[in-house]
Amino acid sequence: MNGELVKRDEAVVSVYDRGFLFGDGVFEGIRAYNGNVFKLKEHLVRLFDSAKAIMLNIPLSHEEIEQAVVKTLKKNQLHTAYIRIIVSRGVGQGYNLDPFVCNRPQLFVMTEGFEAFPRHLYETGIDIVTVATRRNRSDVLSPQVKSLNYLNNILVKIEAIQAGAKDGLIMNTDGYVAEGTTNNIFIVKNGKVVTPAIYQGALEGITRSSIIEILNKFQVAVNESPLTRHDIHTADEVFLTGTASEVIPVVKVDGRVVADGKPGEKTRLLIDAFQQLAVTDGVKFSL
Ligand code: PMP
Repeated sequence: MNGELVKRDEAVVSVYDRGFLFGDGVFEGIRAYNGNVFKLKEHLVRLFDSAKAIMLNIPLSHEEIEQAVVKTLKKNQLHTAYIRIIVSRGVGQGYNLDPFVCNRPQLFVMTEGFEAFPRHLYETGIDIVTVATRRNRSDVLSPQVKSLNYLNNILVKIEAIQAGAKDGLIMNTDGYVAEGTTNNIFIVKNGKVVTPAIYQGALEGITRSSIIEILNKFQVAVNESPLTRHDIHTADEVFLTGTASEVIPVVKVDGRVVADGKPGEKTRLLIDAFQQLAVTDGVKFSL
């Protein structure tokens, strides 16, 4: 907490903290794979960009946060972990909304062992459904800001769970596909890989960028262009990407079976290729 190591039970925040009162803060979810904090630098760039968007000054530098992450992992003896960084605006003047009366931002780094998604989901794939909740418009609250206000995504999660699906497919307000609750979406059609562009309401996911990077290495071009539900329903392959899920095949969308109902060839290749990247690309540490 703010550069100090604090025991889990003692890591407490005031009920007047603006992160709690208003969702006034930003965060990142990161993973360490066997002594490698995957794309830590890229996550920190996104954290600082989110903070800049809400005019929140992060009290530590990139390097200091990097060191805090490694220090916390070492203290917890975690080689493989889930890492959460939270920066909240801290305590202000009671319920006064004015953020400029508040100059003590709070930074937290939390690390825990990460239980990967059950392996069988990567072999069988998951089903998703389109939800009624639309993605935040970028002129309302930009999807690029990973803020502590995740209610848009939570509303989607509620719908997906109520429908008995593993994730929700979110449209933007123009009716084009944006992303999943905490995942980006890709399709493969006639050998071409397509994913919605950032301005269509997708978060610029670190896993998304990694997948584009891997595909480019394999000389497979990725089109970032608008996708409709029809495109998803008739795709040859559909998969989601995200820090928690990595690359997860989707085999059913809105009750329509994707192709033959099994994870596709490119999806399977990417699941494996991502594993290779995850242990190599990032900030290395030893316990
Ligand atoms: N979209 C949303 C809304 C998310 O919260 C996440 C998780 N950060 C993603 C996509 C995937 O991004 P990443 O690959 O960086 O985890």
